Parts: sequence; structure tokens; C-alpha cells
Amino acid sequence: MTLPLPHPALSATDPELAALVGAEEQLQADTLRLIPSENYVSRAVLEASGTVLQNKYSEGYPGRRYYEGQQNIDKIERLAIDRAKALFGVEHANVQPYSGSPANLAVYLAFAEPGDTVMGMALPMGGHLTHGWGVSATGRWFQGVQYGVRQDTGLIDFDEVRELALKERPKIIFCGGTALPRTIDFPAFAEIARESGAVLVADVAHIAGLIAGGAHPSPVPHADVISTTTHKTLRGPRGAMLMSREEHAKALDKAVFPGLQGGPHNQTTAAIAVALHEAAQPSFRDYARAVVANARALADELLARGFDLVSGGTDNHLILMDLTPKDVPGKVAAKALDRAGIVVNYNTVPYDPRKPFDPSGVRIGTPSLTSRGLGTQHMAAVAEWIDRGVTAAGAGDEDALAVIRAEVAELMAAFPAPGLIAQ
Ligand SMILES: *Cc1c(COP(=O)(O)O)cnc(C)c1O
Repeated sequence: MTLPLPHPALSATDPELAALVGAEEQLQADTLRLIPSENYVSRAVLEASGTVLQNKYSEGYPGRRYYEGQQNIDKIERLAIDRAKALFGVEHANVQPYSGSPANLAVYLAFAEPGDTVMGMALPMGGHLTHGWGVSATGRWFQGVQYGVRQDTGLIDFDEVRELALKERPKIIFCGGTALPRTIDFPAFAEIARESGAVLVADVAHIAGLIAGGAHPSPVPHADVISTTTHKTLRGPRGAMLMSREEHAKALDKAVFPGLQGGPHNQTTAAIAVALHEAAQPSFRDYARAVVANARALADELLARGFDLVSGGTDNHLILMDLTPKDVPGKVAAKALDRAGIVVNYNTVPYDPRKPFDPSGVRIGTPSLTSRGLGTQHMAAVAEWIDRGVTAAGAGDEDALAVIRAEVAELMAAFPAPGLIAQ
């Protein structure tokens, strides 16, 4: 066994912390990680994010910095920008946002004033906090108008979105979300944004890797702005990017710095550059297609076992299960599955009668297991473990959970995770 990985300096300086990192490596190796927003980065991405680039301040942009000594940093950031532009086919990319939420805040700063009306999908329908939901700064400082999905289909109702947009005239419309199992219709959103005079922002945080790999339609040229994290299906470090046509470049750059942030995290910029290089390889197209094929196969296996899936299935990497028919609350199921070595998160389902902290659903996804090399032939086993785990959760059968945990660990041992193999 190669774990824990060697961290000699860390182990010598701070053995307590080193032990915790080692335990996390072991946990990530042994468990079946089904959280759709997570992934395993490569060893190369890990190495880039742990470099001396960490030591450098670089406020500003390549060629226009407020600090000297940028000979190498400028080249690194330009590399990341050029790779983003090439991969996504965009005219402009900003790779400095610290994460997805600050990236979205920068969009507000670029295109709206406090008090303006903005529109996005409601959080309990599958949107993101930063799309104008009440508890978020974006819902407190802006008038958040929220759309959802239809109760009967689980799909976005574009007549409703259009009607709302024409009535409320938002400055910004967000499309994309955190629990959307279906293809996002960017042309339909673009038409509505045009009719209502709004800036359309495609927040593709979850599906950026699928777009890069050709497994989901691109928001280019439909969206005015593309916002994305880099750490979900794109398989990069924790970070974000904003992309657009040249016409919005200045406004976005000014909003990120100096509008919202100080110095960029250069070690993250470098790791983003590496991830974009990896995502440009032909093998990443295979990866993206395999993520979707696995999700579809897993959805079919779950449906065959009587699970209720929001929208009836999936087009992408994500499945949202409504456990109401199984009579097990989402949180109870999620916690039991965790004890069985299957890591998921509990989630609201559209029109959930239960509370957000104790909802009816569980959200799962296939990016991580696909990174480990699992294929469609393994999805029956995964569905069976979930089924047995949910049943055991309802029955309080801890022994059954322990049996699943051992079976999961055995399969995981045969499919070592990228980044977790000492080389
Ligand atoms: C994950 C996500 C974000 C936020 O990213 P953080 O890096 O967690 O701040 C924003 N929008 C969408 C749609 C997301 O899925």
C-alpha cells in the first residue's frame, strides 16, 4: 500500500497535522465518493498547487502589476489564460477569482448596482446561493427574482422564465445550478435574456469539464459571461474563472481586481493551467463521455431498484434522488451511506415538503468514480450498495452498513485514485 503519501517536512514539523492529512488520503482512497461537485485532481495538479508560487504577490494582471518580480508569474498567468481561451473557445478569460462564489460576486459588481433586480434559479430548485437567494449577499443586496422547475416534469419551464424576465426586467439572468440533472438549454436562455435586456451568465461550475470534453453543449456563443469553478468536473484546483467576449473583458477584470479581490493565488493559477492542459488532451474527451455514460447507467440501475429520480433520470454527471417513496429522510440516508463508505450529500428536491437541513433527497454524481476508472459495468454494484445502504438506514442495521463498507473498500483498492498514488 502506498498510503499515506510521504510528506517528510510536514511530518517532521507538525506530525499532528500530517497524520490528519494522511487519514484524509486514506479516506479518499477507501471510499466511493459520489458527491457530484467533487473529484480527484492529478498528481501534477497537486504538485503545481503546492509550489513556491505561494510566496508571491501579484496584484494586477500580466504586464500591469502593482508589484515587481513578476517575470515568471506573468508567464504562468498568461499560460492559464491562453489555455482557457483555447479550450472553451472564448475571447477573454480571467483566472483570478478565488472560487465560484467570488467569481459570481464579480459579475454582479460588473453589471449591476445594489438594489437592482437579478434573476436566477431558486436554491431549493437546484440553483446556487449566489444566484440571488435570500440568505446570500446576492439576495440581500439585490432584488432576487427566482425561477424553478415544473413539479410534474422536474424541468425548467421556459414560458415561466420568459414571463418572469419580461415582467421583472432583471439586469442579470443566471442559468446553471448545483442539482440540475438535465442539459441546460443555453440558446433558450439567451433568447429570453435578449428579449428582456439582461446580461446572461452561464454558471457552468458543475459541468465545465463536460463542456470542455464535448459531453455537454457549450454556452459559447449564447451566454454573455461564463462563470465556472475549476475544481468540479474540470478536475483542477479549488478556484474559478470568468470568460466572455472581448466587449466585457474590461468590466469583468476591473470587478475581480481591484473591485473585489487583492492578490491572485498564483499557486492556484498554475494548477489551473495544468488542469486546462490535461483537459485539452484527447483522453479528457473520453473521460467526459465516460462520466455521462456512468451517470446514465447508474440512473437506470437505480430506477430498476424503485428509486425516484428528479426529472426521471440524467443527461449529465448528476442524479437527484427523491427518497420519499423509500420512507427514509435524505439526511438519514446520507449519514448511513457515509458509514457504509459511500459519500453523498443530502439535498432538497424541487417542492420539497421537508426543511433544507433535513430534506427528502440525496444528490449523487459520477465524476470521482470515473476518474478512478470505474465504468458502466460497475454501476449495477454501485446502485445495489446504495439500495442496500438506504434499506439499512431505514432499518438501523449497522451490521449491513459495515458489510457494504468492506465490499466498497475492496473494489476501490482495485481502482486507485489519481493523485493518491505515490510516484
Ligand atoms: C459550486 C458552485 C458555485 C460556487 O463555488 P464555490 O467555489 O463553492 O464558491 C457557484 N455556482 C454553482 C452553480 C456551483 O455549482
